[in-house]
Amino acid sequence: MTKPTADRSLESGSDRGLDARPTDIESGRGIPSWLAASITYCSRCGAELHFGEVPGEERHRLACLSCGFVAYVNPRLVVTTLPLTDDGELVLIRRGIEPGIGSWAQPGGFLEVDETVTEAARRETLEETGLIVEPGEIVGLYTRLEAAVVVLAFEARVMGGEPATSPESLEVRTFAPDAIPWDGIAFKTTYWAIVDWLARRHPEIQPGDPAVLRR
Ligand SMILES: [Zn+2]
Repeated sequence: MTKPTADRSLESGSDRGLDARPTDIESGRGIPSWLAASITYCSRCGAELHFGEVPGEERHRLACLSCGFVAYVNPRLVVTTLPLTDDGELVLIRRGIEPGIGSWAQPGGFLEVDETVTEAARRETLEETGLIVEPGEIVGLYTRLEAAVVVLAFEARVMGGEPATSPESLEVRTFAPDAIPWDGIAFKTTYWAIVDWLARRHPEIQPGDPAVLRR
């Protein structure tokens, strides 16, 4: 495995883009089987959906042979923040639910259909940490073909609130940039978001070699 470095040009490793770093799945493999298994019937007429050629479509689709409805399957957006205290420490949560229970991650969750990305960042961070944050620059976007999601990570400033746990977060803690709990990180997306944030704000700090990249 290539040692992560602050020089991003060395680690992209493919022409799929930097957002491809957290995914092990090749592009062009279609709908993940776990997701296809949950999309069985036509939401318009109730007939069974079939996967295959559809007139006018350049790739195979899930479609209804009865009414012609095409069930497009697209990834969902997960909005996350890297909240920073006035001391420049990073807030992470120890996850209370799967996936990644017991490990450290940044707060975040699925974007709702009736809110902006910025609102989602504030809401999810408040729900999981008790902290009021103001999202700032986007640190990165990360594709997870395994989970059919794209994860957006904002840098965010803690403006108020009090650290509070929730069913989703067993612990809310701050970490100095040179004391990130690398081996306890829950997700590859968390790892790459912190790596990209360090490269931007603390290029002198070398990222660790966490267990999550070896799984
Ligand atoms: Zn139908």
